[in-house]
Amino acid sequence: MPTGVPTVTLDQEINPWEAQNARFDFAARKLNLDEGLWKLLRSPAREIIVHFPVPMDDGHIEMFTGFRVQHSIARGPGKGGVRYSPDVTLDEMRALASWMTWKCAVVNIPFGGAKGGVICDPKKMSKGELERMTRRYTSELIDSIGPEKDVLAPDMNTNEQTMAWIMDTYSMHMGHTVTSVVTGKPLNIGGSRGRLEATGRGVMVACDESLRYLNMDREGCRVVIQGFGNVGSNAARLMKDHGYTIVGVAELDGGLYNSSGIDVHQLNEYKYRNGSILGFRGAEAVPNEELLTEDCEILIPAATENVITSRNADKIKARIVVEGANGPTTAVADEILAEKRIFIVPDILANAGGVTASYFEWVQDRQGYFWKESIVNEQLETILRESFDDVVRYAEAHNVNNRIAAYMLAIDRVAITIRARGKN
Ligand code: NAD
Repeated sequence: MPTGVPTVTLDQEINPWEAQNARFDFAARKLNLDEGLWKLLRSPAREIIVHFPVPMDDGHIEMFTGFRVQHSIARGPGKGGVRYSPDVTLDEMRALASWMTWKCAVVNIPFGGAKGGVICDPKKMSKGELERMTRRYTSELIDSIGPEKDVLAPDMNTNEQTMAWIMDTYSMHMGHTVTSVVTGKPLNIGGSRGRLEATGRGVMVACDESLRYLNMDREGCRVVIQGFGNVGSNAARLMKDHGYTIVGVAELDGGLYNSSGIDVHQLNEYKYRNGSILGFRGAEAVPNEELLTEDCEILIPAATENVITSRNADKIKARIVVEGANGPTTAVADEILAEKRIFIVPDILANAGGVTASYFEWVQDRQGYFWKESIVNEQLETILRESFDDVVRYAEAHNVNNRIAAYMLAIDRVAITIRARGKN
């Protein structure tokens, strides 16, 4: 079913902010959103840019640029990850922040959307340099973040340790421990059981629900996963344990294929020991990009943005695409996949397991009462199954694809909140 998403130029195609705007405008038009709300929700509420110094190990001072974009705080505090990468841009932050607003609304949790990042190359920095950079970045944002304002979390190249440094820096400024300023923390300082694998678990729920919706079986269901990091490896591990056959795994430096299924537990250990999946004996080495177009029932892009574009979308053979990563499919590629009648579970639904468990972590920190892992997993699965159902019903009712349905549902929920809060 064609989506009617307006075509963007090739240059615009891989700009994530343009990609979000194309989907937002189409969904807002379908909803007949009034002009004022349209303008309000299209732009981020606040964009913070900070330039700050960090003493490096050799004694010289290096300047870094960091961002925090708060797209909307209408439904609750801003919520979103912090990314460290040489490629971080303001447009990317804007897109990711608005996706967080829509994601939190799709799973109906009381958060707005935000995102942050620092332009840096973490692979070339020592642990001490990363700690000093993280602490200074946090200090620069001190008045704009907090459990009731904006709650940070890990994203690409940040982890539990980064969150512990942010939490500690924020707490030093406040004069007491404030665990709920970040989620994705280590367990012993207020983290939640089940958070580490929550996004992968949500991806599996999205796969289960897709199969159920399309009357397909897990048995014989071949899965290809791109990205074997937090999201991809946890999804792979959980899915293998639940009867899926993981036939392909693609990483930055190469891919693996085995038509009888890859033992992803062994692959996990192999990657942990060797730092790469290359050389793993239980599968054949294949080029990374070939795996995306491999014959399979489910394709899970779980690495990064813009991997399914106008250049390869027509070659995708999967019946179902479940977007573990944020923004893996461009708006132009969406059109092509729709023509091929490929069933897409969009990122703002498929990878929402992470933010849902983050919400549980924030709740537990504020209560000072910590749940058993089985409770976290059970509540997570319930929320994701219900959200999947909401999205596919919305798609049927409005005759749109799942992505546009998820945007419409989310925009509608945020708009209802803003209307209820009244004019000021
Ligand atoms: P990660 O850094 O743990 O893993 C990403 C993996 O993908 C790495 O192993 C990397 O080598 C690989 N990779 C990067 N580019 C690749 C490419 N072009 N081809 C093949 N492999 C590639 O990151 P993550 O936390 O797993 O996040 C992955 C994606 O999921 C990102 O888009 C992130 O924003 C999104 N996401 C993550 C979470 C979470 O809880 N971690 C939640 C929601 C969304």
